[in-house]
Amino acid sequence: MAKDFEIPKLPTYLEIPKIQEGIMDGDGPFKSVEEFQTPLGFPGEKVDNWQEVAINKMGELKSKYRSVQVFLDACVKCGACTDKCHYFLGSSDPKNMPVARQDLFRSVYRRHFTFAGKYFPKLVGAKELDDAMLDDWYNYFHQCSQCRRCSVFCPYGIDTAEISMAAREVLDAVGVGQKYCNQILGKAITVGNNLGLPEPALRDTLLDLEEEIEEETGIAVKYPLDQKGAEILLITPSADFFAEPHIDGLIGYGKVFHQDGVSWTLSSYASEGANFGMFIGSYDVMRKAALRIRKAALDLEVSRVMVGECGHAWRVAYSFWNTLSGVGAGANSSDEHAMKLQNQLDSRYPQPQHIIEYTHDLIQRGKLKFDKSANDDRTVTFHDSCNVARATNMGGIPNGQFILPREVIKAVCNNYVDMERSTIMESTFCCGGGGGLLTDDLMEIRIKGAMPRMQALKEVEKTDAVNTLVAICAICKSQFSKVLPKFDFDPYMIVSAHQLVSEAIIMDKPQTEDSDAKMAEEVETETAEAE
Ligand code: SF4
Ligand code: SF4
Repeated sequence: MAKDFEIPKLPTYLEIPKIQEGIMDGDGPFKSVEEFQTPLGFPGEKVDNWQEVAINKMGELKSKYRSVQVFLDACVKCGACTDKCHYFLGSSDPKNMPVARQDLFRSVYRRHFTFAGKYFPKLVGAKELDDAMLDDWYNYFHQCSQCRRCSVFCPYGIDTAEISMAAREVLDAVGVGQKYCNQILGKAITVGNNLGLPEPALRDTLLDLEEEIEEETGIAVKYPLDQKGAEILLITPSADFFAEPHIDGLIGYGKVFHQDGVSWTLSSYASEGANFGMFIGSYDVMRKAALRIRKAALDLEVSRVMVGECGHAWRVAYSFWNTLSGVGAGANSSDEHAMKLQNQLDSRYPQPQHIIEYTHDLIQRGKLKFDKSANDDRTVTFHDSCNVARATNMGGIPNGQFILPREVIKAVCNNYVDMERSTIMESTFCCGGGGGLLTDDLMEIRIKGAMPRMQALKEVEKTDAVNTLVAICAICKSQFSKVLPKFDFDPYMIVSAHQLVSEAIIMDKPQTEDSDAKMAEEVETETAEAE
């Protein structure tokens, strides 16, 4: 049973909390079982010789990922990162200080991979990987959302997220995986999306959506599925298909495509943008999930691949798709499928492209019209999602990932205000649910970790009457829907950027029989003239 805990109070200014040793000790999130472990290539349960397997895996990661070794060797314990983690600020547990979290891994690394650690362990804080240490790894590396905020403030750029990914990779290798991530990955790899939603259910959902929009607007906005030869393949998080507030974003994407007149499609085979392979640190699993997207793009013969509003999906797409799947420049030239896809995709467009980049471009070119007053009941602020903010770009311009979403929002609503500068853009605070933590068994750390973002939001609520929070990440939207009421906010204040677009966009008048006849007449005249 979940233990009782106190929801943090929101101070006027963020303060470094008084340390409470061991307050977040525990067993960590629910552990994965054989059914979810083996399809991903991990042992079904904790292996007998787990210490040996773990140390071997650490050695493998140390040589495979140079960054991990550099991060483990470079820390000078300056302390600059200690108060930068939202989980430490919200929980007061010293093991949630980024440097302390790293040290759980570093102390074992020192014991087994450094001269001083082998011969003078006490002197350099080297420790054995025993049962207690493994438990601490499992617990505290699942209290890190891999948000990378600490790395922004580290003079050496040490990225705790990478250490956390490495630790989770070792845990999976010894058969101690996390249920939430591994179960979801199994569904994404076998069925095509995190929900295990099969093709007929997806098709029905999209048809219902089309009917709903037509009833409301009188315009037949289409949500094509598996449309071979479409120009754009949209890869979006499956939450967009059914959950609030995500689905209102999907409605917005469809309206924008409709107004542009471009042909586009979703894929039932690759109906998931999210890729939790990154959260568990496994390149192989991340690739398995990404290869479904490649197959869909090849089969559907699209010339563009676009990504919907999902933070880590955009990071995987922007940073890894090229080598994982061939979307984007730089694919492995010995991979014939990747090269085929590179040749198939239209190089005049960014590959992949974010839906925000696409909408922004249409706005810049005057192709979309808006009635901004449709959003006049809102005063809006924007939450920069960690993976977008600290691991990607948009628009190919410096800081484009901060500029483009704000310009899209400001194009569709009149009242916009930013939260405190030290809590946004490159310094943004995580929503508290990223990195594979968006599960009910981690609710305590999710609520505590949301405190710094909620504090900044409360301030703009007080000063500017902000009543709408926009995010372009499915995890942020789901997390905020849950935690906002815990801090006395309206849970419905969180919306997609494309929900605001959807509300303000001026759609072309519905076609009538008269206008159809007139258009046919015009085409006939033009053809006759040309002849
Ligand atoms: S949650 Fe973010 S700030 Fe905290 S340790 Fe992990 S990467 Fe660093
Ligand atoms: S800021 Fe960087 S060098 Fe300083 S303690 Fe943190 S990780 Fe180590």
